Amino acid sequence: MPVFDYDSIKRGIAIIAALGMLLPLNSLAQIIDYHQHLYSPQAGVRSSPGSKGIDADYLVAQLDGAGISRAVVLSVAYSFSNPNKAAVPNEYAHVMDENNWTSAQVAKYPQRLLGFCSVNPLRPYALQEIARCARDPNLRTGLKLHFGNSDVNVDNPDHLARVRRVFRAANEHHMSIVVHMHANIDHHRPYGAKEARIFLEQLLPEAPDVVVQIAHLAGGGGYDDPETDAALAVFVKAIERKDPRMKNVYFDVCGIAIPGMWENKSDLLVTRIRQIGTSRLVYGSDAATIDNRPKDALKQWHSLPLTQEEFRAIDSNVAPYVRNWVSAGKRNAKRSGQKLAPNRGTSTEGHICKQSPDHTFKSQRWRQLKP
Ligand SMILES: [Zn+2]
Repeated sequence: MPVFDYDSIKRGIAIIAALGMLLPLNSLAQIIDYHQHLYSPQAGVRSSPGSKGIDADYLVAQLDGAGISRAVVLSVAYSFSNPNKAAVPNEYAHVMDENNWTSAQVAKYPQRLLGFCSVNPLRPYALQEIARCARDPNLRTGLKLHFGNSDVNVDNPDHLARVRRVFRAANEHHMSIVVHMHANIDHHRPYGAKEARIFLEQLLPEAPDVVVQIAHLAGGGGYDDPETDAALAVFVKAIERKDPRMKNVYFDVCGIAIPGMWENKSDLLVTRIRQIGTSRLVYGSDAATIDNRPKDALKQWHSLPLTQEEFRAIDSNVAPYVRNWVSAGKRNAKRSGQKLAPNRGTSTEGHICKQSPDHTFKSQRWRQLKP
């Protein structure tokens, strides 16, 4: 009969706990990146990655280099319908091609990458494309909307009506929504508490059954813009009063830790994160361009004055829409005796040599800060 020596068990637990304190943060948990992108060569030309784009092989190598186990890949198909850029002939065909290309790319790494469809919600083909994506097993998990890129202004009743229909369609297709809700920065579209209230009162009720992940903590990169905080405060108050519309709302922290764009607001930022609560927050790196490698983005995020427990909780959070994927992966790995953890040390240099992920960030300042 085995005899349990409780002292040695206790000692063992103490040693494990001590090791946990010493190990680097990202070696302890399965880190999930909830805000990644791939770019076909055609989409790359229209945005920061350039004509080589970013493919799944490259991204997975980058994730390996950062110790990130999985990533949610948000299609950038909407970039073909950016109203502030030159119009693209056969626009909808390009949008479909980009969503299809993203679908095929994530399918190469089903354990590591999960695809989201995307579309400009103001376009007449938006509902058609959402229905088409809902039939694609690699894209049907969710829908990415980018209000800045698509120049959505929720103060405009026509825009609001269109976006409401899109939220309703996503809900009907059981597709979660990741939304960059900050209005266009370059054109100084209105954004702040008023727009956040419209979002809370008129958009969230259209998608009550799916997760709505508000990107970049409701901002557009960094956390130094008072209007972003005013918008986020609307959601914080709603969480505090247990507003049922906030039931399935999550926030990603993608892009908030850009050096020089949060330090002055450090106390406020930490307060907001704690008010929201770690269970509603997920990590994101944003596009793996040469000046925003996941490894570096993760390091920047970890420079915020949060506790190790808070980082661990946020980095390894399992949002409802990835639950089945994560548990299926773990079952598969167990069956095949495989390790799901990323391969460390893979060389990822030299693939992209272009500028910055300006599709989300305050591009001018980002460029100034990131040579
Ligand atoms: Zn992004």
